[in-house]
Order: sequence, then structure tokens, then C-alpha cells
Amino acid sequence: MCCVLRRLQSKLPQISFEILAECKHTRARTGILHTPHGDIETPVFMPVGTQATVKGLTQRDLAEDLGVQILLANTYHLYLRPGHELIRKHGGLHRFMSWPNAILTDSGGFQVFSLSEIRKIREDGVVFQSHLDGSTHKFTPESTVDIQLAYGSDVLMVLDECPEYPVSHEYAREAMHRTVRWARAANDHFLCRIAEMETRHALFPIVQGSMFSDLRRECATALLDLDTDGYAIGGLSVGEPRPLSLEMVEATEDILPRPKPRYAMGVGMPAELPEYVARGIDMMDCVLPTRNARTGSLFTSEGRVIIKHARYKDDEGPLDPKCTCYTCVSYSRAYLRHLFQSGEILYSVLATRHNIQRYLDIMREIRHAIKSDSFPEYLRSVRSASDEAE
Ligand SMILES: [Zn+2]
Repeated sequence: MCCVLRRLQSKLPQISFEILAECKHTRARTGILHTPHGDIETPVFMPVGTQATVKGLTQRDLAEDLGVQILLANTYHLYLRPGHELIRKHGGLHRFMSWPNAILTDSGGFQVFSLSEIRKIREDGVVFQSHLDGSTHKFTPESTVDIQLAYGSDVLMVLDECPEYPVSHEYAREAMHRTVRWARAANDHFLCRIAEMETRHALFPIVQGSMFSDLRRECATALLDLDTDGYAIGGLSVGEPRPLSLEMVEATEDILPRPKPRYAMGVGMPAELPEYVARGIDMMDCVLPTRNARTGSLFTSEGRVIIKHARYKDDEGPLDPKCTCYTCVSYSRAYLRHLFQSGEILYSVLATRHNIQRYLDIMREIRHAIKSDSFPEYLRSVRSASDEAE
């Protein structure tokens, strides 16, 4: 029965992707990702709400003032606290955190491999100790699908193994093959589960293979069989040199199906965003704009501002004269510096709001450039500005 339903269900796209314009000279494209919680203009940057909150901002700030259409939440953290059953009981993540738009959740693989000191990889999953209280848990490809369905995520990720960098080719191959086997198991389980559900969800498998192009290509080719609604590229931003991350994305660009959305996980710096887009990426997420905001590093249209610097002590000008966010139209650099130096909560609120706005502005510029056939010029101007800044 399950398999019959599965075949029927698998014919219906859970989310759909519409490409509106493509750059003639690069692999960039702009489009719309249609989800049950609204349409998302791509290429999109997704702010990270690890604990079902983007630190320092309310959901109203994000949805209404900043126009965020999709947020990322973290499977591992929310599983450990408050727990997926509690979130399910409260009507899923959208209702629990009062978020009207789309939610993407990662599979937790990355956190298991980066946060948990003790972990044991087995063929059927990974056993790990909570970084909070040391208790023992197990993630399997199937259980992480169940957890993310309990959250009610619009886009789910498969459990993957994200090896540290650097790693031997031999180990990277072993981990990549395991990731492919886990992706198949997760997808089979997902198709059975959603066949019984009225809500719509999409599951993305993750391309791994460390920094080896041949493994990345082998992985992407193997994942094609799953015919999922989109594909993610993981294992980036794990300490490798930046040009290598771009090379790894490039390695699978011609393998991943062009009509499906591609998501580069955990990237990047402002100047890197158009670089990923130029390599066919539609979705990105990163903690940089929010984390850096809190530590005093602000991204502006004129480059980076380290707000604690004495030069801003008496600076009456706005943080970014070209930015229209609430922080920039209302407050001076001197005031922001004062709040930062005093350790005031308001500093984080204002700084985060600006940094998120800056990332969203960059994505708007990128989409506009692709639509108006000027993306290569835009990319060149970003490159020369970042060369000057170095
Ligand atoms: Zn601003």
C-alpha cells in the first residue's frame, strides 16, 4: 500500500520552482520557489534562526519590516531543546514561533559532527552525546525526517555526514557513499510519510565529498536518481580556503538538474554571495550577518565597519548612508558605538537588523541584475570593490 501511494505521491511536486530569467554569460538565474508558506524570490539568502529565533529580532521585524520570506531553523538544537514532540504538540514550528513564512530545517548532521564531542557513526545512523547535558541520542536517516516533519518544515534536509577539513580522499569517499545511502533511506521514508499527509513538504539530499571534485561529481550523479524537488551542497565553510568552496560548487553545476533549486549550505561573506549565484546557486544561509552584528562587525555598502573603533566615537553619520533600514535612518554611528561599548541589548537589535537588511539588499541587487541582463557587470563591480577593500 505504502509503495502504491508513494508512486502516486512522488509524481506530485511538493514545492515548485519557476525560473524567470537566466544570465547569458554565467550560470546565474532568478526565479520563484513556491512553497505552502508563500513564494520565495530567488536567489535568496535565508537568515539563520538556530533556536527558532533570529537572535535580536522579532518575527514581525523579519517578516514585515525586512521582508524575509524563508528562515532556517536547526534540527539538532530544537530536537535537544525543547524537543520535536513538544513542537509538534504546539502545532509545529510555524505556530510555535509564530512565523508565517517558509521554514527550512537542516538535518542536524553538521551539528552532530561539529558540536558533539562523542559520536559514533554506524551504518544506520549516528549516536551522539548532547552538548547540553551529555545524554545519549541517535539520529537515523528516518528519524531526522520524522523530527523535521514534526516541526512542519517546508524544506527538509537528509541526514548527511559532514567530514572535517582536511580529510583523506579515502575517508571522504567512505563518508560520501554513506551520505548517499542515508539519502536513499531518508527519501524512501519521506515519500511513505508524506503519502499519508495533507501538508506539503520537500526533502533535499546533500552533495558531499569534501574538497574532492571527483567525489562531489560521483555524489551528485548518485543523488539524481532520487528525483527530489531540490538539491543541497554541504560540507562547505568547514575551514577550507574560500576559492576551494567555489570550486566544489562548480564541480557539480552541470550534473544537478537545472530546473531544480540548488542550495549552498552555510555560505557566505557579502562579496561571495554573487559568486555562488554565478555558479548556479539559488539558496544560501549563513550565521555571519547575525553573529558578526553582535560582535561589532557591520557590513555596509562601503565595506566593513568595526563599530568599536575610536574613529566612530563622535561620528554623527548613519552606519550606511545608502541603507534604508530602521537602524540607518534613525541612529548615528556614535550612538551605535556607545550602545556596543556599554553592552546594551539594543545594540544587538539594531546591528542585526542592519546586517540582515544588507544581505537582503545584496540579494535584491543580484536578482535585479539578472533580470536586467547586467549580472556580469554587477559581478565585476563587486569583485573590484572587494579587491580594493583587501
Ligand atoms: Zn542599515
